[in-house]
Amino acid sequence: MQNRRAVVVGAGVAGLAGAIVLSELGWRVALLERRERLKGDDLGMILWASGVRALRALGIDATLDVSGTPVDRFEIRNEERLSSSFSAAMLGADDGTPSVMVHNAMLYEALVARLGDSVQVFPATQVDRIDMVDLAAGDASRRWDADLVVAADGIDSPTRPLIAPGSPTVDAGAVAFRGIIPAHRAPERTTDAVEIYGPDRRRFGYGDLGHAGACWWATVPGGMRPESPQIQHELINRWFADWPDPVGKFIAATRPSELTQQPVRYVWPVPARLHQPVGDGGLVLMGDAAHGVAPILAQGAGLALEDAVTLGWALRHHAGSVADALASYDRARLARIKRVARLSRRVHTIASGGRGVTKSLLRAVPDSWVQNQAAGLADWRPPN
Ligand SMILES: Cc1cc2nc3c(=O)[nH]c(=O)nc-3n(C[C@H](O)[C@H](O)[C@H](O)COP(=O)(O)OP(=O)(O)OC[C@H]3O[C@@H](n4cnc5c(N)ncnc54)[C@H](O)[C@@H]3O)c2cc1C
Repeated sequence: MQNRRAVVVGAGVAGLAGAIVLSELGWRVALLERRERLKGDDLGMILWASGVRALRALGIDATLDVSGTPVDRFEIRNEERLSSSFSAAMLGADDGTPSVMVHNAMLYEALVARLGDSVQVFPATQVDRIDMVDLAAGDASRRWDADLVVAADGIDSPTRPLIAPGSPTVDAGAVAFRGIIPAHRAPERTTDAVEIYGPDRRRFGYGDLGHAGACWWATVPGGMRPESPQIQHELINRWFADWPDPVGKFIAATRPSELTQQPVRYVWPVPARLHQPVGDGGLVLMGDAAHGVAPILAQGAGLALEDAVTLGWALRHHAGSVADALASYDRARLARIKRVARLSRRVHTIASGGRGVTKSLLRAVPDSWVQNQAAGLADWRPPN
């Protein structure tokens, strides 16, 4: 596929990973990003063994290149009591792949560093049209013709309706706050990741980022808070005031400038297909643009990396036809995406059930079910 041209819309995890695989296959890639700079966020996140394998297939070692911190166990607590736990280390034990906590900005930097010479980056470029007749993407003043357009433009993708008009973004009626604390102020170091389900549909989780510090995440019902970070910090303090140790310590150690908030949303139903052929090329969805899942099982970035690796595999195996490759990508991804999206939505519904419901459901769920589900989610390997 020498001298084929691809346009990738969006330079998040999905778009960067997509540009890496395309350039490795010899494509000329225009990577169009509306932000002024290619930069990750100050956030901690989990990459399960599946995502770590996908990263490795892109030539990036999650521990060495991204300073990922292996997670031993994942604990779920029902208010004060341990409700269930599973061994995160066991998930990738058969091939020695860890599940890790990573700093988002470090993951981002590692992806940017892997972009090949054939990738031309266009920052501050807001794509506002996709030409589905003579395949191309454009902004207000320019146009990029292509054999393949990859829409990796996030959960609000205006491109998704071209392929999957029946798959809107659903607002889950909650907001997620995340904090990151530098190592010298981290209140507690742990090799486990912990998530506590509390009353009133609130959750609080925390983990360790090694020399990058510690991180926490909290979900509360309601919409985005318009107040200053200082007031948001005070509100979080109040919402979690009587929660068990070390919740208060994490919040107290966080400066308002180290807080971020995001609405909790997901794409539902999952698109029935992820591509649209155009001539012998086409348009394809990747990452949150395709399947933004409810962010309760920490799967989205891992899925985005898997998408990119699978697209690379499909293009390699159908070297003569982009359209065939896209159909093959679709077949390889849809069952997995549906499984993760359904489970994420189901767990999100349990977590949003209010005090009595969440508490009794959590009590009823056996450890073996949790371990099996986690193992199923992490059991993805690059196709060959
Ligand atoms: C609270 C929360 C916690 C999470 N925790 C985890 C976790 O622990 N582990 C995990 O794996 N996942 C987690 N996720 C999910 C993960 O963050 C996302 O799935 C992932 O970042 C999606 O990457 P993406 O590249 O598909 O989309 P995005 O990161 O949204 O990137 C899209 C890019 O496209 C650009 N763009 C959009 N429109 C245009 C346009 N018209 N023109 C040009 N550029 C455009 C945007 O500026 C952006 O850079 C979490 C999500 C949330 C909300």
